[in-house]
Amino acid sequence: MSIQNEIVKIAKQCYETGLVVGTAGNVSVREGDMMYITPSALPYNEMTEEDVLKVDLTTGKVIEGNRKPSSETPMHTNIYLQKEEIKAIVHTHSTYATIFACAHKAIPPVHYVIADIGREVSVAPYARYGSESLAGYAVETLGDANGVLLANHGVVAVGDTLADAYRRAEAIEELALLSYGSHVLNSVNPLTEEELDEALEGFKTYTSN
Ligand code: 13P
Ligand code: ZN
Repeated sequence: MSIQNEIVKIAKQCYETGLVVGTAGNVSVREGDMMYITPSALPYNEMTEEDVLKVDLTTGKVIEGNRKPSSETPMHTNIYLQKEEIKAIVHTHSTYATIFACAHKAIPPVHYVIADIGREVSVAPYARYGSESLAGYAVETLGDANGVLLANHGVVAVGDTLADAYRRAEAIEELALLSYGSHVLNSVNPLTEEELDEALEGFKTYTSN
């Protein structure tokens, strides 16, 4: 499957599984000094591989494609430029995770699956969608984690592959729901530092091969 096809498949999956509504969210994959990214404001059911754009990471210029690139192009290019190991990014506005982002509350480690992301899911300060400031805050707050919340906005999940980034976007939503539920039950029980260390260690080898 081509990169463009894979991007459209994952973008539609975000829509079908409810991680995004309307035209929210965007998906990209790095390829050397370039990235492929979803178009801006195009409904997911209309999106085809021809709509995916190729963008130069350094200049931010469109190299291939006729659509307008995602408004979050600066955030995607900034992450790729500053984090060599990251190859794919999924940005969503998934509901429960975005509740935490609106509340300016990090998602705590209430379930061991947080280890796929980091020690918590931190919140980057607010800046207007699509802005250079948002791009800066996102990469700064991400640090070495595999996901971050954007205040009053949504979620960014990253990975080595699009499948990894998508799985983490889903995991962040699930963790937010579990954490929200723990708050509702008035009994939030985060893992201890040691328990987190063990889970993080475990995730280094949690693969199917
Ligand atoms: P685009 O449609 O421009 O990708 O924007 C959606 C979004 O989520 C902006 O933060
Ligand atoms: Zn967004």
